[in-house]
Amino acid sequence: MVSGSLHVIHADDRCWFVDCGLFQGGRRDMYTRNAQLPIQAENVAGVFLTHAHVDHSGRLPRLVKQGFNGPIYAAQATIDLCRLLLFDSAFVLHSQTDSLNKKRERRGLLPLPDLYSESDVEQTLRQMVPVKWNQTITPSAKLEVMFFCAGHILGASSIILRENNKVAPTTIAFSGDLGRKNEWVMPNPVAPENTDIIVVESTYGDREHRPYSYAKSELCNNLNSTINAGGRIIVPAFSVGRTQRMLYELNSFIEEGAIPKVPVYLDSPLSIKASELFLEYSNKESAEISGRIDSNKLNCYNVVSAEDSRRLVTKKGPHIVITASGMCEAGRILYHLKENLSDPLSRVVFCGFCAENTLGRLLIDKHESVKILGKYLPVNAAIDYFDTFSAHADRNELTAWIDKQESASTVFVVHGEEKQSFSLAEKLECECKKEIIVPFQGEKFILSGKNVSSN
Ligand SMILES: [Zn+2]
Repeated sequence: MVSGSLHVIHADDRCWFVDCGLFQGGRRDMYTRNAQLPIQAENVAGVFLTHAHVDHSGRLPRLVKQGFNGPIYAAQATIDLCRLLLFDSAFVLHSQTDSLNKKRERRGLLPLPDLYSESDVEQTLRQMVPVKWNQTITPSAKLEVMFFCAGHILGASSIILRENNKVAPTTIAFSGDLGRKNEWVMPNPVAPENTDIIVVESTYGDREHRPYSYAKSELCNNLNSTINAGGRIIVPAFSVGRTQRMLYELNSFIEEGAIPKVPVYLDSPLSIKASELFLEYSNKESAEISGRIDSNKLNCYNVVSAEDSRRLVTKKGPHIVITASGMCEAGRILYHLKENLSDPLSRVVFCGFCAENTLGRLLIDKHESVKILGKYLPVNAAIDYFDTFSAHADRNELTAWIDKQESASTVFVVHGEEKQSFSLAEKLECECKKEIIVPFQGEKFILSGKNVSSN
């Protein structure tokens, strides 16, 4: 699946994690899934974190709460972003547990404790160790690790792990979430060399993104028709990455005269902070951003207080609101959707991936009615989905990243829904001379040099 990313590696007689992400999607068993970890926390020697999105980082404070006190290696920007995202995650999880407990109380069941608290997040941040791209680190005597640019969001990294045992040294490359080639201001993903085994994401393993020019003209047409009719446009966007990209696009459209100058609101304190961090990195000419961003391109009205947000929800159009969460799981987006979904004048524009069982996915899949804040609402608003603006590589870009690793013998296809993973696996089977495996959750393998055997 596309959330809950976590790989367990046994190397140099110890146990390591690559990522420790949160499961997302409104399933009933989500609390239990996020409460459990595959290995006892005190037996984990260290964590290598690919990037800050909570589906990769959001269970780290849980691991710490359960007794993990080792290092968490990550790029500096990932650490800076985790400082924003993990506190927010603690807050979101607390409100979800709260509403779960209200239901439990009605059934006479005992309340469940929070998955983690703000102090667990503080401790998690203290355990984070910054790592520079393209430099080898040796977390233990026989284990070498290197982080590379993955081009997905600020700080996003692919990671290779090499166990230098005498019998058969093995080098594994984890793609993390891979970005797109020449995508906006993110540097291009780098494919590592001399790898034996590849573990690759497959979020968009089943499709090629439409070219930018087509997506842009369709998006501008749609925006124009809603603006001309006086409607409201709601853009659910991940606070880190998609929000800044869409602000940039909208400001560019207005500047070019492709759409009229209407107010653009950024209704999310977390997204506002993420945009500030984004500009900070752009200004210091960090390797983590290619090229500087003119701050005017991120122009918008920042909506911070809950009271201003409530006022914005009922404000008449035309205007554009960007708000979180990107998958419509929690936060201010729910109130905007509650107000707008039954209004045929309104438009909701999705620009990032929405996992199965999330409200965002139900809307993208054109459900005629959806449940929001306890009530079913008919969907009369226009719903758009533009994967072109996604921060994820498409199937051709994923294949190109794999092709560059000629030495690798085997590819594990992970981090995708079944359809996407198997679709990418089929393409790889036809096009590259490597063994392709789509593992199921919890499956174990023994890696020795280029050999892979089932456990
Ligand atoms: Zn991501």
